[in-house]
Amino acid sequence: MPVDWEKIEEKWQKVWGKAGIFEADPESNKPKYFITVAYPYPNSPQHIGHGRTYTLADVHARYMRMRGYNVLFPMAFHYTGTPVLAMSKRLKERDKELIDTFVHIYKVPKEALKNFVEPVKIAQYFHEEIKAGMKKIGYSIDWRREFTTIDPQYNRFIEWQFKKLSEARFISQGSHPVGWCPSDGNPVGQHDTQGDVEPEIEEFTLIKFDYDGYFLPAATLRPETVFGVTNMWLNPEVEYVKAKVDNEQWVISKESIEKLRYLNRKVEVEESLSGKELIGEKIKSPVSNEEILILPADFVDPKNATGVVMSVPAHAPYDYIALERVKREASKLEKYGITQEAIDKLKPISIIAVPNYSPYPAADVVKDMNIQNQLDPSLEKATREVYRHEFHNGRMKENTGEYVGLPVAEAKERVKENLVKTGKAETMYELVNKPVICRCGTECVVKIFQDQWFINYGNPEWKATAHKCLNNMEILPEDLRPEFNYVIDWLHEKACARKAGLGTKLPWDPEWIIESLSDSVIYMAYYTIMKHIQKHNVQPDQLTDAVFNYIFLGIGQPNEVAKEAALNQKVLEQMHNEFSYFYPLDSRHSGRDLVSNHLTFMIFVHTAVFPETLWPCQIAVNGSVLMEGQKMSKSLGNIIPLREAIKMFGADPLRFAVLATSELLQDADFSSTLAKSVRDRLERFYQFAVETVQAQANVKGGQLTLTDRWMLSRLQEHVRTATRSMDKLMVRKAIHSALYALDQDFQWYLRRIAKENMVPKRKSAITEVLNKILDAQVRMLAPVAPHICEEIWEKMGREGFVSLAEWPTYNEARVDMGAEEGETLVRNVLEDTLNIIKATKIAPKRINYYVAAPWKWKVYLTSLEKSVSERIVLSALMKELMTRPDLKKMAEKVAKFTRLIIDEINQMPDDKKHRQLQVKVLNEHQTLKEAENFFEQELNAKVHVYSEEDSQRYDPKKKSELARPYRPAIYLE
Ligand SMILES: [Zn+2]
Repeated sequence: MPVDWEKIEEKWQKVWGKAGIFEADPESNKPKYFITVAYPYPNSPQHIGHGRTYTLADVHARYMRMRGYNVLFPMAFHYTGTPVLAMSKRLKERDKELIDTFVHIYKVPKEALKNFVEPVKIAQYFHEEIKAGMKKIGYSIDWRREFTTIDPQYNRFIEWQFKKLSEARFISQGSHPVGWCPSDGNPVGQHDTQGDVEPEIEEFTLIKFDYDGYFLPAATLRPETVFGVTNMWLNPEVEYVKAKVDNEQWVISKESIEKLRYLNRKVEVEESLSGKELIGEKIKSPVSNEEILILPADFVDPKNATGVVMSVPAHAPYDYIALERVKREASKLEKYGITQEAIDKLKPISIIAVPNYSPYPAADVVKDMNIQNQLDPSLEKATREVYRHEFHNGRMKENTGEYVGLPVAEAKERVKENLVKTGKAETMYELVNKPVICRCGTECVVKIFQDQWFINYGNPEWKATAHKCLNNMEILPEDLRPEFNYVIDWLHEKACARKAGLGTKLPWDPEWIIESLSDSVIYMAYYTIMKHIQKHNVQPDQLTDAVFNYIFLGIGQPNEVAKEAALNQKVLEQMHNEFSYFYPLDSRHSGRDLVSNHLTFMIFVHTAVFPETLWPCQIAVNGSVLMEGQKMSKSLGNIIPLREAIKMFGADPLRFAVLATSELLQDADFSSTLAKSVRDRLERFYQFAVETVQAQANVKGGQLTLTDRWMLSRLQEHVRTATRSMDKLMVRKAIHSALYALDQDFQWYLRRIAKENMVPKRKSAITEVLNKILDAQVRMLAPVAPHICEEIWEKMGREGFVSLAEWPTYNEARVDMGAEEGETLVRNVLEDTLNIIKATKIAPKRINYYVAAPWKWKVYLTSLEKSVSERIVLSALMKELMTRPDLKKMAEKVAKFTRLIIDEINQMPDDKKHRQLQVKVLNEHQTLKEAENFFEQELNAKVHVYSEEDSQRYDPKKKSELARPYRPAIYLE
């Protein structure tokens, strides 16, 4: 019977909505759990990658609800920023690629597309699109709290947040370098760039080498190596210019002109010249006044800083390799008027001493890594390695003048400082992860932004409180904690406002609009009051600073605050109470790309605005989704919008598929094969449920057999594993336990009972077992596959919703160790017998099992007990055993047997020892006897079970002597 997924999904979504079961209000007698996931940017539909992050949060919310919490899981939409502006601009320009994406991948109807010339219409369209998808996939969201970040009431909230940050002196204004899109005229952050790349800015030192009245400003991140310069590199194929830069005359690459202008330098080009013309010329070092030759190098990138590079072959692998090449090909340089003699003179100059390296660390590493040419990608790695060792362990040598003996880390700063002070160098900001491309398609640059507003995440005291908050938080998975610590330490001033885009105006300087990574850090608090704002139609001007101060910080008298704001006092108090009930935030979910910005900003700003008791408690981070093993990308055409995927596979199979294959940080590999196999598996589960429900027996009270008790005991183990896994959001493991591992045991159970004589009492007992399995399984699967589980719950005739049912709890009392060990015995005996049949190629007619004598159990358990605390040795063990008169009488037999078991016991895992010690003497005879029928069916032979010392036993080959506890002797005929 195929499952009509769409029908079931629609049915339950409607029923849930009507019953309002996901709407959470404060309940004084119930613990609360407040969980949020980063609200989406509505500038495209969500795809399967988003589906993973949001589904995980929903599964978490549903799980906590079943654990008895009053769970608040809200959602809003982040309109703030410039992406939709850039999009509408490109649409106006009839950008073909973007139109194609909208029409063919996002399936935007032509009619809607027409409106997209207005940026906010784009946001509104995708807002509805994403929301519809969230409903279709069954997220348990309290929609009464929905808002957008351009709602005027929300603007008031963000203004309040910024005033708080300003009062705490965490906001400053000044000139700072920012990533910049020349086309949009706006700073860019991670959210504005293609591929979500955060622009990384570094400060280069430009060391000025004298060239006939001009300067060649060589750009370096290691100014201290200026003492080791042997030559200069320029690219002969590149266009350079002579230009007046502020009050000096420089020779720089053509590409650097605009960049210098963005850094507020006045650049007037005098003449253009080819790199070729400069090769072979001589310049002067600012530190030694020595003449230095300009040599050609094709690795010099005119787009990188000034396009002028100094060569330090002793300490820079790139330079070392390039110099080697020049020496090999010296004859080719004759055309530049460079003589063999001049080249021969060039020798690496060692200026830094590093332990465990020769005077020429660059040469060492190049040799170690076997790097042959300038285009070898390992050169990057080699450069980093040399730098790391020199920076941490290197000291400056005698030939560095006043810097001799200084650690490199210190010399680096001092050299730079002195060169700049004496006018021999300047600095230049540059992107080090070039090219960074804006979403509009333009390559980004660094701009010194005048009068920019910043949030100062560099403040050391603030960093200390952020660390304190982090230390008290749970980070899932815990492996990510060092990354958060690193980001907190590393963060510095962050531009927080722009001159364009949607969002909230800076309250004290309304030309500026607060950008998207700054208005999304404490908004979780706003969810708690949004319900009231909507219900009572609270106006923006009623949300005064005093009102927010009272709601969130308990400052002031409610009657006065309300009166002043013309707000109903009851409404004010309700908002305060609701916030106080749901805050702090219990769990924050997001994808991994937000660790280095959003998630860490959230920690910072919470500590700045709220008292410690209201700081967030947990962060859960998940990895991304691969499509058939590949990264999802528009160019590969493998992005499936979420709503389309739901149509293709069904909501539950899709939810299941994105969570079932990987733990938190791993990439999940999605494929349609996987989704279909998951769907089949869920349909089989549904089938099992329907059959179990129909098979209700009319007789009650059948005795549970060993096998029944074993199955129920195993069920407890799976409940325990699933619960522990869910507590750490290890959903893959939880699903594995609740469905696949449980199923393995269940298959064995079915095999064991298959040929039983189904008398009514037996049927009743088995039905009881099946019902218990179904009951636990439907609950454990409900968070991940809520629709089908709800349908089954109804078929089971249960009251209410499985979504609100109690998560099954592990009950130790229901663990039956005896049954588990007994069943393991049956399984092992069957396996051993089959192995013997295979080895001997006998098709037995009769099989005899002999279980160990009581004295053997006595020896076995004594040995086992002793082995828990120490490694047992024969002599000591025998001594102890011989204190018992009954064993002493048969000393020789005991010694022989003990010798046989001692190694095995010493090697046994502890948990197995403890299990067996808990069970004590397993009644093997009864266990095998009860399974006689089963063995006969499986082995197609007559089966007899004897005790080793049974005088009536049939034992022609004296096999019974070989019997050991848990290892009955087997004799086939
Ligand atoms: Zn742009």
